[in-house]
Amino acid sequence: MGEGTKLGTCPLCRRAGRELQRSHLLPRQATIRAWNRNLDKPQPRILTEGGIRRTANQIRQRLLCADCEKQLNRNGESYALGISFFEPGRFPLQDLLAQQQPITADSRNRVYAGAEIEELEVDKLAHYGAGIFWKATAAEWYSYGNPEPVHIALGPYEDGLRRFVHDHTAFPQTMVLTLCVSPAPEHPWPLAAPPRRIRPGMPECHHYALHVLGLKYELFVGAQVPDALRRHCLINSPERVVSMSAEMEDNARRVYDPRRKVKRPPRRAWTKVPKARLTG
Ligand SMILES: [Zn+2]
Repeated sequence: MGEGTKLGTCPLCRRAGRELQRSHLLPRQATIRAWNRNLDKPQPRILTEGGIRRTANQIRQRLLCADCEKQLNRNGESYALGISFFEPGRFPLQDLLAQQQPITADSRNRVYAGAEIEELEVDKLAHYGAGIFWKATAAEWYSYGNPEPVHIALGPYEDGLRRFVHDHTAFPQTMVLTLCVSPAPEHPWPLAAPPRRIRPGMPECHHYALHVLGLKYELFVGAQVPDALRRHCLINSPERVVSMSAEMEDNARRVYDPRRKVKRPPRRAWTKVPKARLTG
């Protein structure tokens, strides 16, 4: 083994004595493509629970074994990155949806049946989003100088999500995963936001969201997830719903104007990894 290798238990396959890789919470490409040359300070602006951070740093730590990294890549990430936002004018998933007939639409929102779009690999898009949420449940991720790590505590629900991601078991009935694609002609906003809990949540269930390169995933968790939400689930709805919403993006811009001044994080804050994670 080379210098700096760490053995431990991989939290996805749960095998002990594995050489743990430097895993990224959001794909490396997410930060690389988030540079915006139209702004005076073009570094990626990442939306976190602590506010907006301007940083080119990655959120990463030694977490998964090489087999599991490959599996995440092959089952979703690689495909999703190939159709996500690259730069203004190059966003293949947005182009694909724009050519489709929505099942419902108003001036600001369009809802598509992903199941009926032949070119669309919905399973891979679902695996990608679920995989990022799962990584946020599996560890605490120190990011961009935020004192509080990125972490989602799903308690008894975590293992159902892990088995969906690793073993391809059915997606838990106690969860709904939704996908909304940005209609923005230029840079979607935010381009990257690690998983975070939405507060105040809904009374019936917990609500989480993440943004990555023009895709917004939301995860709703609880035994009482409303049926109205279930009908929008990317995985368990019959239509395998994918939406495109200007309204949602406008809301994000209203809360966090991408042009406003942002705090510069301390250097190398992301390298802070709790030691306990690394010893199996
Ligand atoms: Zn593994």
